[in-house]
Amino acid sequence: MPEFDFDFFVIGAGSGGVRASRVAAAHGARVAIAEDRDVGGTCVIRGCVPKKLFAYASHFADDFDDAAGYGWTVGHRRFDWAALLAAKDREIARLNGIYKQLLARAGVELIASRATVVDPYTVSVGGRRLSARHILVATGGKPYRPPIPGAGLGITSDEAFHLPRFPRRIVIEGGGYVAVEFAGIFHGLGAEVVLAYRGEPLLRGLDMDVRRHLSDEMIKRGVDVRFNCEIVSVARGADTPLVARFASGAELGCDEVMFATGRTPNTAGLGLERLGVALDANGGVIVDHLSRSSIASIHAVGDVTGRQALTPVAIKDGGKLAVTLFAGKPAAVDHEAIPTAVFGHPPVATVGLTEEEARGRYPDVRVYRTSFTPLKHTLSGRSERSMMKLVVDAATDRVLGAHMVGSDAPEIIQGVAIAVKLGATKAQFDATVGIHPTAAEEFVTMT
Ligand code: NDP
Repeated sequence: MPEFDFDFFVIGAGSGGVRASRVAAAHGARVAIAEDRDVGGTCVIRGCVPKKLFAYASHFADDFDDAAGYGWTVGHRRFDWAALLAAKDREIARLNGIYKQLLARAGVELIASRATVVDPYTVSVGGRRLSARHILVATGGKPYRPPIPGAGLGITSDEAFHLPRFPRRIVIEGGGYVAVEFAGIFHGLGAEVVLAYRGEPLLRGLDMDVRRHLSDEMIKRGVDVRFNCEIVSVARGADTPLVARFASGAELGCDEVMFATGRTPNTAGLGLERLGVALDANGGVIVDHLSRSSIASIHAVGDVTGRQALTPVAIKDGGKLAVTLFAGKPAAVDHEAIPTAVFGHPPVATVGLTEEEARGRYPDVRVYRTSFTPLKHTLSGRSERSMMKLVVDAATDRVLGAHMVGSDAPEIIQGVAIAVKLGATKAQFDATVGIHPTAAEEFVTMT
């Protein structure tokens, strides 16, 4: 008789949990994964994937406009929100099925129920108590709504993927990833968008040139960006479905108010606090470099930890954890220089240090910056400009950070990230021959 029911019990079948369970099973572990919603987690069901599909949908508006400069006459255009939702739902259902198949083929037992942790080696799930040598908490996070009157009348990104009617006028609060991406999506699809951010400029934490450039471009496009602006209440309106009231006293009628005001880790009700698992101020599980919590048999990966809330990070941490536990060799993920992108209009992508971070860590920093009209827009007539920037340590010539705002930035920075990760110098960037004519070649020709 084995000592435990399972070698590995995973709570939450999102990106991190699924990867960890599959890798663990591949190493011979007996694995169960509990999930009370669809399989795939935030990224697949209500995050990255549907968001990117929506972003594609909204970019067609630009394409139709830009085509005229190239001799095209585009006929009457009409956007059908219900058709987009249905197409997106079909794709998410397909992915859901694939995830389930992957788990089944790996021999992972999927338990369609909510699990809680009873003691360091026991979970309670679907009325049963099951023991496991190792428990993984991979329960992700959920959108946070500020505690203001009428907050419940607003939506978050969760609901934005299922709105029964397309909002003609939407007020989005926040200035981070989700706010910028959804402002671009709804604006591109034809809505009037007010983006209310309590700070200035957008995307705190990124390089200041990136933040300013992106903010300017969004304003140029017609998003009504309001800085230093906070919603203090939401109420039903007489002339419009909702009215948002701001700290300034101003009021705005709209169809929807969306809170894109950050996310909180899903730890409430899991039983972790009772067991003494250390949590951070935001409720995230505190983990070490091997994804171990303060209790040796309980681990955590993904958005439920305080680490960067990015799918590829959760996947890498999940895979390495399984290798650590079941292949007998401790494997940690290097969390330095993780590239990231904001799929806004225009998109942003970045890897490594911002200029501000570099100046705080290195005595002498060289900065290379370029801003230009992409070739495509010489004929389209669009006034959008792209911006690229390299941050270099003057003492070693090493490229510490690469940043871009503009078309294809995420696709371009992914490649540049390899060079930054490898510690490439500016001289090595310069020795690389560009591909002409591209925007990407600017990264190897900056002086
Ligand atoms: P972010 O932390 O990126 O942004 C939250 C925003 O809400 C900030 O602008 C913040 O302001 C503001 N805010 C927070 N609390 C309040 C409040 N009480 N009142 C008013 N404004 C408030 O969170 P997101 O939800 O946008 O994204 C969460 C994470 O998910 C991201 O950090 C990212 O890691 C990940 N993500 C990644 C994506 C991608 O890879 N493309 C896409 C979407 C999400 P302030 O700046 O002042 O703190």
